[in-house]
Amino acid sequence: MQLYTKILIGLIAGAVVGVIANVGGIEPLQSFLGALEPLGTAFINLITMVVIPLVVASLLVGTASLGDLRKLGRIGGKTLLYYMMTTAIAVTIGLVVSNVVRPGSRVDETTRVELSERYGGDAAARMDMAAEAPSWVETLMGVIPRNPVQAAANMDLLPLIFFTIMFGAAITVVDEPYRNQVVGFFQGVNQASMVLINWIMELAPYAVFVLIAAVVANFGLDLMRSLLVYTLVVVTGLLLHGLGTYALMLRVLARINPIEFYKRIVAVPLLAFSTSSSNATLPLTIETAEQELGVSNEVASFVLPLGATINMDGTALYQAVAVMFIAQIYGIPLDWADQLIVVMTATLASIGAAGVPSAGIITLIIVLNSVGLQGQVQAGIALILGVDRILDMLRTSVNVTGDLSCSAFVARTEGESLFDGPAAQRAA
Ligand code: ASP
Repeated sequence: MQLYTKILIGLIAGAVVGVIANVGGIEPLQSFLGALEPLGTAFINLITMVVIPLVVASLLVGTASLGDLRKLGRIGGKTLLYYMMTTAIAVTIGLVVSNVVRPGSRVDETTRVELSERYGGDAAARMDMAAEAPSWVETLMGVIPRNPVQAAANMDLLPLIFFTIMFGAAITVVDEPYRNQVVGFFQGVNQASMVLINWIMELAPYAVFVLIAAVVANFGLDLMRSLLVYTLVVVTGLLLHGLGTYALMLRVLARINPIEFYKRIVAVPLLAFSTSSSNATLPLTIETAEQELGVSNEVASFVLPLGATINMDGTALYQAVAVMFIAQIYGIPLDWADQLIVVMTATLASIGAAGVPSAGIITLIIVLNSVGLQGQVQAGIALILGVDRILDMLRTSVNVTGDLSCSAFVARTEGESLFDGPAAQRAA
């Protein structure tokens, strides 16, 4: 059985059991599922544990084997351009759908008051976290690490990527036998990390079952009803972008069959959905790009860790809808100039957001501030917090799909022929 089939079975089974516990109000089942939750967390920790060795080893080998630093510059340029462009398109889709449906004008006064009371405290805590979070300028400045080991320890991928690329470039000018010794060592680390990921993924279906069952069992279904239109607007936008924009990009820019692409990568968005974290999904993302799509290590090892850190189309789209929703609820009109600001700040805020659960709702505060909604931040966040977990799962799926689509685009424009990776060869 394929990995994605197993994950899907775990996911559906988890959802069914979760719904039974939730709708049936079966308390023993709810607390049993709650007690199982640490197993899900253990799985997330297991996959996250491979991120640092895998990213360092794979990126180092990738950079060192490029040989030509101009190629790295070219790949970098294309990657950044693709990431910025697709994120701006994502925000625009979010804005268009929100302008057409106007989800904020469909929430009545009682719901608003009820939600503010229920989540007001939580929202205040998020605002404190936002005050601590670095701004995107600081994030950009923080690209150069003072201590790469510390960057690794803090899982700060951007500075770690910067250091690893510099180090990889340096290795290319080191004399033999040292060059081969270093590259050979990291090739070994890279392969061992891949083996580790395969082992850990054996557990994925069970972990996904536990994670999803616990989320669904604890979910306030009544909330879903009162925020249904808002939720549907986000979901519609994400579907349009995840299946429309990328398919178009893959067809037009990468000249590959989008359906084949989706078929080969589907385990990745499913895992992202279950973990709500681009970072935790990263090892599988890299493995899938190389093994299933046939993207070269040089491209995958550069494009994907960068994407998990700075490319979040789903998050940016969600932020655009959230800003419009909050503005509509409070009757504050946002004209086209304001919405242009939303396009820019949501694109930048998603760069600043880390690939971890709920990061997007914290950087949303930056976007709200940018269009003069400071006064509505706490109350606005309180309104949407209740459905944030489920939307986080969905937007993370789009985030990682975007990263993979970029790896396909870059690989193709570098003259690689896709869909003939080791997995495809095994199947043939
Ligand atoms: N959870 C998202 C990710 O890891 C970030 C977010 O939107 O909160 O990609």
